[in-house]
Amino acid sequence: MDLKRSHYIGNLGASMKGQKVLVGGWVEDLRELGKLTFLTLRDVTGVAQVVIAGNENIQQIKDLNRQSVVLVTGTIQETKARDFAYEIKADKIEILSRAVHPLPIDPIGRLESNIDNRLNARALDLRNQRVASIFKLRHHVLFSIRKTLTELGFIEVNTPKIIGSASEGGANLFSLKYFDKQAYLAQSPQLYKEQLTIGLERVFEIASFYRAEKSHTVRHLTEFSSVDIEAAFMDYTDVMEVLQTVVTNVFDHMATNCIEEQKTLGIEVKKPNTPFTRITYTQAIAELGKEGISLELGDDLLDSHLRKLGEIHQSFYFITDWPMKLKPFYIHEKEDDATLSKSFDLQYGYLELSSGGRRLHDPEKLRSRLAEQGLNPAQFEDHLRSFDWGMPPHSGWGLGLDRLMSVLTQIDNVREVVLYPRDPERLFP
Ligand code: ATP
Ligand code: MN
Repeated sequence: MDLKRSHYIGNLGASMKGQKVLVGGWVEDLRELGKLTFLTLRDVTGVAQVVIAGNENIQQIKDLNRQSVVLVTGTIQETKARDFAYEIKADKIEILSRAVHPLPIDPIGRLESNIDNRLNARALDLRNQRVASIFKLRHHVLFSIRKTLTELGFIEVNTPKIIGSASEGGANLFSLKYFDKQAYLAQSPQLYKEQLTIGLERVFEIASFYRAEKSHTVRHLTEFSSVDIEAAFMDYTDVMEVLQTVVTNVFDHMATNCIEEQKTLGIEVKKPNTPFTRITYTQAIAELGKEGISLELGDDLLDSHLRKLGEIHQSFYFITDWPMKLKPFYIHEKEDDATLSKSFDLQYGYLELSSGGRRLHDPEKLRSRLAEQGLNPAQFEDHLRSFDWGMPPHSGWGLGLDRLMSVLTQIDNVREVVLYPRDPERLFP
């Protein structure tokens, strides 16, 4: 049996009248109408109507269930159907795989299934074109990010996810047995990417990271995808520019390459205005004060505060210059005010998409910051050693890809934009 299709359905058209084709895909619908049977066939690129006549062929598909996989040899002809520009008159149908019935969810999405049932049958859920579109979009977003960063001179790297010591302090690390040793799952590539600026200057990594946090929100997963960059000879404002370029290029790329997916999802992405608004943490506190939320300088911005700021700033905006005490040990202080840091978060409304900043590159400062934050410098010796090998001044950020996808698709729950999400309750499939 020849499995090699002559065409993707998306490449067929009315202008091909009379042409023989071999197409294959999934049976989306099957309707008998007198002596004819109409089969709606879908592959990853599109959908076509197949007309089946003749006893032998009709007999063969008589008890065929939807979502079964078939190969169709046929000829393109004109159609009377309103939803199609042409149809395929079948000469031969071969059944490659039978789907059972009933299926656990309605894969075409005519019947709404709740998200848990859908995630339990995720592979089948992807036959729903809305769901498939999300992951086609995600592919394009990844492509665009890689393209932008490559053009800006960044080199893609892969750092370990199994690590021997807690890289950033350690509260929310998953631990695992590594033969007779204790190991952890990486919560970020922070220390590695900083070290790599010594050899490669500008690096990026797109990978899964792990946080053992029992968060039950629409924006937290225990395993999430992160886009991380680190760059030598850049200050925090420089990497903010890089981040803005990465994000706006994604919008441009989607506008030209993801028209069908947007249509299917019922969205239309609009390139955000640039430059993104920048407010300092201190300004954010003042803005909240005007709204009747009084915070002290130094207080963290909690969910309720970010919700309020998100009402004031509805698109992308940066919150910069956070108090040192709210940021991790490796962040660099501001030259004119050592209580503040060269740091930023990128927000979309209430949602934090990214955190970044200038890093300390002086090993002595880094040692004392570790101690100040109650961390043991001895545990970071492997990392600190590299700071004696010509560590350049550097800055970077981490961008939550799943959260960015939820902004782009206008779907609030990150579980919808991750194929097999992991949260405190969900470990399967
Ligand atoms: P949050 O305060 O929202 O929990 P964070 O400040 O702890 O996030 P960072 O350590 O700054 O997160 O990580 C960088 C980015 O990675 C975040 O801005 C976010 O987009 C993404 N991210 C972090 N933790 C998660 C998670 N548990 N699930 C999904 N995305 C995450
Ligand atoms: Mn953060």
